[in-house]
Amino acid sequence: MSEKIRFETMRKGSETNPRQARSAVADKGVVQEIDQILSRAVDAGATDIHFEPRQDGLLVRMRVAGSLEKVKAIDEEMKINVLNRLKVLSGMDFTKTKVPQSGFFKMQVGEKKLELYSYSLPTLYGESVTVKVQYKQSATKRVDQLGMGKAILASYRKALTRTSRLFLITGPPGSGKRTTIYASILEVMQPGMMAMGFDPVLKYEIPGMLQGKLDEHNEFTFAEAVEALLKQEPDVAYIGDILDETEARATIQGAFAKRRVFARVTANDTINAVQNFMDMGIQPFLIAASLAAVLNQRLLRKLCRSCREPYEASEALQKELGYKLPPGAQFYRAKGCSACNDTGYKGVIAIFELFIPSEETNKMIVAKQGVQALHEQALKEGLSTLKADGIRKAMGGYCTLEEVINAL
Ligand SMILES: [Zn+2]
Repeated sequence: MSEKIRFETMRKGSETNPRQARSAVADKGVVQEIDQILSRAVDAGATDIHFEPRQDGLLVRMRVAGSLEKVKAIDEEMKINVLNRLKVLSGMDFTKTKVPQSGFFKMQVGEKKLELYSYSLPTLYGESVTVKVQYKQSATKRVDQLGMGKAILASYRKALTRTSRLFLITGPPGSGKRTTIYASILEVMQPGMMAMGFDPVLKYEIPGMLQGKLDEHNEFTFAEAVEALLKQEPDVAYIGDILDETEARATIQGAFAKRRVFARVTANDTINAVQNFMDMGIQPFLIAASLAAVLNQRLLRKLCRSCREPYEASEALQKELGYKLPPGAQFYRAKGCSACNDTGYKGVIAIFELFIPSEETNKMIVAKQGVQALHEQALKEGLSTLKADGIRKAMGGYCTLEEVINAL
């Protein structure tokens, strides 16, 4: 009934000791058992699968849309074999049961290509293993499908035409940064160009793009990986989260060679992202010379168009927002109908803030004039803040004002 599943263990370990691997997978019933559990979880769109040891066996549960569902109970007799098979599949050492381990394997179910990350933890009744499912998909979204307003889209597209430049994308986890980066790569890729990426989590694939992976044993560091990647001379490079000076240095140096470098950084807004880069010890002139754009974004729930309810923005509300809105400006409330399962929302919408450094702001960066001064100058030059973009989209009925305020 279930489709054929292909596995690929990514780490050494299982292959280096065939005798161990064979004995652990010898039981055909166990192999089938795990195949069935995994394919059922994938079919249901589960994000993680828990193999929880109990006194009398193993309880298997999966998380679908945020809540745990029971998949099945496995009896005590089969418990060890199931855990061993999972550990072998993930490239863990199955002879070690008293230490936490982590592993990784790939799986293909029909058309779906998946990456699964396993984590083991010793507990009172044996090891608990959690398998997280990463659904990898082809990157198909284009820059003009991200939900940018006309002005931001035009400026961002213009910035993307520049080579030898760095593009920083910022926002909290789950704000759609990867989606934006892959859309940007699709935008700039031309036949005959090479793109390379390095991110601990591979969410998307682009044909022809090479993507490196971080070693689970930490045999090399992220900064080393970034350096190695840039030595391969890609035309477009994508670097996952930049967390320290070494990583920032490697990334920024990579941007000076007729290539475009996309990277994620942690910051509350675009100007602070620039400051964070300086705080990591990067010389301001390097930043001024390389930075093409900083994009800050959030994902919000999109209001259901069939049932959203308009209300007029009172003067008090406008005052509170600090914006003078056009007369008769409206916002919208979520209600709920059959089209949106009574939630009032359907899908997601992104809000953006885009900072494109100018000659003047670059001078200020070099002179280390600080976040406040830089922010004021950027506003003078037409920076549209995240808040402004959010208010615009709330007025357009895409999202509620409350979600915008909460996301800032
Ligand atoms: Zn609705």
